Amino acid sequence: MPKPCRCLTDQAMPGMKAVIEDVIASLPPAQLADGPVYRARLDICLACPELADGTCRLCGCFVEVRAAQKKNQCPHVPGYWGPQKGDSTYVNTP
Ligand code: SF4
Repeated sequence: MPKPCRCLTDQAMPGMKAVIEDVIASLPPAQLADGPVYRARLDICLACPELADGTCRLCGCFVEVRAAQKKNQCPHVPGYWGPQKGDSTYVNTP
């Protein structure tokens, strides 16, 4: 069985990328994290040992969907990223 890659869905499951983009596009715009916050969250996920083929092994979410929502937080305890407050999110490096 191939080892899961520490990558986002565009590398792990190219066919899922459009589905994930559709899910994100269906969310109310007011619920979406700002672009820099989203990017910072995904950069943290990309460095995290819990990332496997675009999903978080702790919660099972596609991290691109979880990170896209302002109110969400990383499920790790302590969390590696938190809900967006203002224009930022807290960050603890994995
Ligand atoms: S534990 Fe947190 S940082 Fe790691 S992949 Fe899951 S959501 Fe991302």
